[in-house]
Amino acid sequence: THRCAKALQLTLAVIKPDAVAHPVILEALHQRILENNFIIVRSKDLVWRRQDSEKFYSEHAGRFFYQRLVEFMSSGPMRAYVLAREDAITHWRELMGPTKVFRARYTSPLTIRAQYGLTDTRNTTHGSDSVESAQREISFFFPDFSQETWMEREELGFR
Ligand code: ADP
Ligand code: MG
Repeated sequence: THRCAKALQLTLAVIKPDAVAHPVILEALHQRILENNFIIVRSKDLVWRRQDSEKFYSEHAGRFFYQRLVEFMSSGPMRAYVLAREDAITHWRELMGPTKVFRARYTSPLTIRAQYGLTDTRNTTHGSDSVESAQREISFFFPDFSQETWMEREELGFR
């Protein structure tokens, strides 16, 4: 069987409501995922209720942008992906660029947030920032998906 030289890693990527609202941007971001050799393990379109948004971003409760963020993330459809690749977490975050759109435009103009972001809140995409948050966030979006089983099968050369 074919074996990868390096281990695959899973991450959660989300295309936020500002980008899903524009079909051309949504398609461009989907292409960006494919061009960068991510395996799309799962994907779905969904809409959050306000309480989903509050729960997902609870680490930011009390920050000045929290209400804005929570409202925005439950304002319309999103697309969530479980992505696999070598160094998937870091690689997706590098493609997204800095959190703040105006900083992204200045320091890294070819990143997703620089190219498509509207404001520091409406910044196009989300990506997990560590192995622990990837595990937690994948379960949050895809409760029926077993990361362990997927990784085991991957190591055995299925797919
Ligand atoms: P990231 O999404 O890059 O991991 P954070 O976890 O710090 O960034 O913040 C979560 C989200 O909250 C950001 O993606 C953005 O939508 C929003 N946000 C963060 N910081 C600000 C800010 N200073 N002003 C407005 N919105 C912000
Ligand atoms: Mg974050």
